[in-house]
Amino acid sequence: MNKIEHIGIAVSDIKKAAGIYEALLNTKVYKTENVASEYVNTVFLQTGPNKIELLEATSAESAIAKFIEKKGEGIHHIAFDVDDIVTEMERLKAEGFILLNEKPKRGADNKLVCFVHPKGTNGVLIELCQEMR
Ligand code: ZN
Repeated sequence: MNKIEHIGIAVSDIKKAAGIYEALLNTKVYKTENVASEYVNTVFLQTGPNKIELLEATSAESAIAKFIEKKGEGIHHIAFDVDDIVTEMERLKAEGFILLNEKPKRGADNKLVCFVHPKGTNGVLIELCQEMR
């Protein structure tokens, strides 16, 4: 794995949260994207080399809705950048980690993604992401 690609934060009102994070980081949202397959709206902010993803549920079906219901707003996942997501998924599987999707899926921000179950990672949902080429 290369580096932390972004940190995902679950929010209940993305417009309000975007304003807060714009003020906090003193920068503007650079990307807004709906990921229909995941029932989420996302916005991205960048500060220095680091990215923050805010996620808002668009349906009660959304993992973000369930997360907020259970735990409230807050850090939802940490995403790591990888060069080859399939190889990395195979490696993690062999190490005994539980992958939440069998195949890479399309995530926000032009990425292929896979999530690793927080049960095997001390309670932290991990996202692998590979830039789509
Ligand atoms: Zn993410």
